[in-house]
Amino acid sequence: MDPVSPLEQALHAARARVLSDLAAGDVAAADVVSMVEASVVQRRWWVEQWPEGAAYVAGLVAQDVQDALLERYGRWPLCPVCGSGDPHALDVEPELGPDPHWVCHKAGVKVAAVGSLGSAAGGAAPS
Ligand SMILES: [Zn+2]
Repeated sequence: MDPVSPLEQALHAARARVLSDLAAGDVAAADVVSMVEASVVQRRWWVEQWPEGAAYVAGLVAQDVQDALLERYGRWPLCPVCGSGDPHALDVEPELGPDPHWVCHKAGVKVAAVGSLGSAAGGAAPS
């Protein structure tokens, strides 16, 4: 019985946070979930090479999924802060660092931590 390694914990948390943000935007369809899985597989390899990067995994998975969605569906997540003007996506900051957040560069604000987009989007978070 191996205890769950910190690396697996980090990957599991990253997956959960990104899925939560996808659900907040109503885009957690089956093929989107598989994009998350594909990213987690890649990042598992990456973080095995560089265990110090475990804290960065959530931000990286979020960016991987954002890129994959852009190719297939379009921008995600759309900025919930700016009510007018062109719809635009949020960016992950830091791109490579711990404690990643979604930010709107247009308004210059941090919108939510990765994994907490649901509580920032104005809608009631599902209980
Ligand atoms: Zn914005």
